[in-house]
Amino acid sequence: MENKKLLSVKHLSRFYGSLSAVNNISFHLNKGEVLGFLGPNGAGKSTTMQVITGNLAPSAGQINIYGFDLLDSAKQAKANIGYLPEQPPLYRELTVDEYLSFCAQINRIENTKQKIALEKAKERCGLTEVGKRLINNLSKGYQQRVGIAQAIIHNPAIVVLDEPTVGLDPIQIKEIRNLIRELAEDHGVILSTHILPEVQMTCDRVQIINHGQLVYSDDINHLHQRMRSNSLILGLNHAPSEAELKSLNFIDEVEVLSNSRFRLSHAIENSPSENIAQIAADKNWGLFEIRPEQKTLEQVFVELTSGDVIADEADTEEYNGASAA
Ligand code: ADP
Ligand code: MG
Repeated sequence: MENKKLLSVKHLSRFYGSLSAVNNISFHLNKGEVLGFLGPNGAGKSTTMQVITGNLAPSAGQINIYGFDLLDSAKQAKANIGYLPEQPPLYRELTVDEYLSFCAQINRIENTKQKIALEKAKERCGLTEVGKRLINNLSKGYQQRVGIAQAIIHNPAIVVLDEPTVGLDPIQIKEIRNLIRELAEDHGVILSTHILPEVQMTCDRVQIINHGQLVYSDDINHLHQRMRSNSLILGLNHAPSEAELKSLNFIDEVEVLSNSRFRLSHAIENSPSENIAQIAADKNWGLFEIRPEQKTLEQVFVELTSGDVIADEADTEEYNGASAA
């Protein structure tokens, strides 16, 4: 198989009393990809992240991490996964170096290799300059980098990040997203988020969870295609009649928005933009705007979450275990 699965989850469920927070979900993570785990608040993202990282027991299901069963071979399985929880476990009274040394120890990195591991994690997360600073005195963006550094310090094959950009400002968000993309060069990454554009900007594949169930799983490009709509906005300073617009090639409907602006509907596979721009120039319509409309991710999300639950991949695909390299 070309794509080695770093992680395979089958029929995972988790109950809190009678509440089914995660209900029979199956998914996998391939090498070199960022998988977006998208869903509204309360959907079951954090519960899933806690279970697949061995921090919460599943009620049912199997989790295989890098060839190791999480329940049967917990130690080896956990050595291959790094986790940034929703509330990062930072010790604020420590310096970055002190904290990351501590993390190296609890991840059982050999004494002689701890310093190298620490330097490498700091370098990857852009923390080299702040090793001596108290975590408490760092900005929220830098604290989040420290959280990511502790997740990768033992160089795990898989990195799980639960809502890593929440509470950051736009510049910090951009930096953390870049860092996540870089991580994917050497690790498989699972990123949970309730923010749709985050998935669009950072992930290769997206999986949508709602009420504890997976409702969608696909390549990010397919999600982009789903966002294509079948209309465009046209702005003309010297507009012709509505009838003339409607008689243009490929146009199904014309909606008049104002004296100079129109919404034109067309078949999704035939964009009339080029044709219209040409005619508008020839006929001096005073073209000032021509813009394909896109569905918002919110609209797509509503369409997807009101649909049927996707087929369970575990029924059709067999786990092809990735052996420890
Ligand atoms: P998300 O991370 O997508 O917001 P969670 O996994 O945190 O969702 O929560 C899923 C559901 O499980 C929610 O209904 C939440 O209220 C419930 N839940 C989460 N943690 C607990 C807990 N420790 N005890 C009881 N219910 C919980
Ligand atoms: Mg959560």
